Amino acid sequence: MKYEFWFVVGSQFLYGPEVLETVDARAREMAEELSKVLPYPVIYKVTAKTDKEIVDTIKDADHRDECAGVITWCHTFSPSKMWINGLAMLRKPWCHLATQYNRAIPNDEIDMDFMNLNQAAHGDREHGFIGARLRKPRKVIAGYWRDEKVHKRLGDWMKAAVGVAFSRSLKVMRFGDNMREVAVTEGDKVEVQAKLGWQVNTWAVGDLVREMDSVTDSEIDELVKEYERLYVVATDDTDAIRYQAREEIAIKKMMDREGCKAFSNTFQDLYGMEQLPGLASQHLMAQGYGYGGEGDWKVSAMTAILKAMGEGGNGASAFMEDYTYNLVEGEEYSLGAHMLEVCPSLAAEKPRIETHHLGIGMNEKDPARLVFEGKAGKAIVVSLIDMGGRLRLVVQDIECVKPILPMPNLPVARVMWRALPDLTTGLECWITAGGAHHTVLSYDVSAEQMRDFARMNDIEFVHIDENTTPEKLERELFLNDLAWKLK
Ligand code: MN
Repeated sequence: MKYEFWFVVGSQFLYGPEVLETVDARAREMAEELSKVLPYPVIYKVTAKTDKEIVDTIKDADHRDECAGVITWCHTFSPSKMWINGLAMLRKPWCHLATQYNRAIPNDEIDMDFMNLNQAAHGDREHGFIGARLRKPRKVIAGYWRDEKVHKRLGDWMKAAVGVAFSRSLKVMRFGDNMREVAVTEGDKVEVQAKLGWQVNTWAVGDLVREMDSVTDSEIDELVKEYERLYVVATDDTDAIRYQAREEIAIKKMMDREGCKAFSNTFQDLYGMEQLPGLASQHLMAQGYGYGGEGDWKVSAMTAILKAMGEGGNGASAFMEDYTYNLVEGEEYSLGAHMLEVCPSLAAEKPRIETHHLGIGMNEKDPARLVFEGKAGKAIVVSLIDMGGRLRLVVQDIECVKPILPMPNLPVARVMWRALPDLTTGLECWITAGGAHHTVLSYDVSAEQMRDFARMNDIEFVHIDENTTPEKLERELFLNDLAWKLK
């Protein structure tokens, strides 16, 4: 889908046709200039002067798949009662861009005509009131429209809105159920579909095995060549690599046939398979598919969404799991990994294909997997949990480092990080909020984008950052609980 964003500019008839012509020309110019610097085109739709113009535009925006969101701005004053019917029906993400055409106040030129034409300071406040009065979720971005900072924030919001569009049509393929007895990977699929749009359904592992049986040697040859091009082959066990290729091709065929962009499986149900998909799942994630281990369909879907929000459709976002800590004073870090399945988009170096014994699960043979170190840099971890009656999105800021130890006997990809505000306080906050052990780790998507995503979908958002304290967080969660019960 080629997404675009619609630009609707507020005005009114009061100032006469000449002013409206100027507003129209400037709105067109702004949309054209912004389209050159933003990740998605901005399409100027209308200078709105009547209820009907707004309602017609919003109706159109709501039903057109390519429109991923609406950006509004009031060049002049634009009385807000005429916006009520349109905004009340708006279902697409909404951004109120509080800007003005001119950057500076022109000392000599300024007179009452100038004031009437350039009164966004006035018009955007009226526009802001009606958004607040209607309790309409919206993003407010204030600043000069030619500034890079505004472009960055508007572009980030656009990507979050594309994440919402992607989410609303997302299908998740489950092989096997959630891992036995695990609580946090459970969730209300009906609630999730109603809120986020995901269609989460199950397929038999036997169907996958039948699909695997029909994969041809030449299909496997071709994929193995791609593995050899992308990765360093550090094992003699070519059969294991070929088996992973067979698994990948079969899973991909089934997902593509059903229009699924994410999948989950479990090591407890590999009936008829000789290896848990490792390299297979990793290379599928590298192509933008979401994945969750142990039947965790929520983290699988979120991985696919963050990938869709990231740069170029598959940014450095990956399924991750907190495994173990280094609690040495001054070197406090989390070590994240998974038993096999970490997306190579996180890799700091060219990943190596290795085979090792995997004691957990039904593996008859040693699965091939990619082994690498994650990149250093600022990132976030994201967890969506079902609180019973509502969904909570927990996001934590982290700082990834080059792993401080080589860990030569660790047979999986690994990422090391410091949670904010510090490892142990961050851990206390994460546990207090109920965040899962499975997360999406992303270097590309920001906490602000996840806040936008939560707001657009009307779900609870909890952000643990450098300023969070357990005391403040506990109070926030308590108040959230009350508020969400009233909602
Ligand atoms: Mn796991």
